[in-house]
Amino acid sequence: MTNTALDPAAPLVVDTAELGRSAGATVEVVREVVAPEAFGLEVYRVPESAPLAIDLRLTAVTEGVLANGEVEAPVSGECARCLAPIEDTVRVPVQELYAYEGSVTEETTDADEILRLQGDLLDLEPAVRDALVLAMPVTPLCRPDCPGLCADCGVPWDELPADHRHESVDPRWAALEKLRFVDAEGDDGSK
Ligand SMILES: [Zn+2]
Ligand SMILES: [Zn+2]
Repeated sequence: MTNTALDPAAPLVVDTAELGRSAGATVEVVREVVAPEAFGLEVYRVPESAPLAIDLRLTAVTEGVLANGEVEAPVSGECARCLAPIEDTVRVPVQELYAYEGSVTEETTDADEILRLQGDLLDLEPAVRDALVLAMPVTPLCRPDCPGLCADCGVPWDELPADHRHESVDPRWAALEKLRFVDAEGDDGSK
């Protein structure tokens, strides 16, 4: 967490002055903004400059401001099994407490545990980024039952006939196969 001063004009910075630090006061924040950077990893991410639909309610509480709602964003990535491109839209819940400067919460927690307001300003970016990244799959798939690629030719199983298989063409393997069959036939005295 940096201590850089927040820019009140930044798309994800919200001025909470109208809440007046009066516990229970609420304000809706409904905005469409552009992702300032890519969130996530190359295999599955919200691309830089993607539109983020922010739909949050900010509620003043004793110790700070609670941000609660949802964010919707496009994601793009690659299927971990068949490497096909994935284009999707995700909608994830956001819930984050921003502590007032000088509040007990601010003084008793580390800066990386709970986000802080700067004066009346709060930055939604870390809350939005965390919500999106936490919801991302460890193994992104184009569909839950994606059969992946044939290990021998690398062609997606979806594009191959059901009876697709590979014969051993390497003569050394062919020789071994022959031996194995001979052995199996010869080893018939066990029963
Ligand atoms: Zn796939
Ligand atoms: Zn194959």
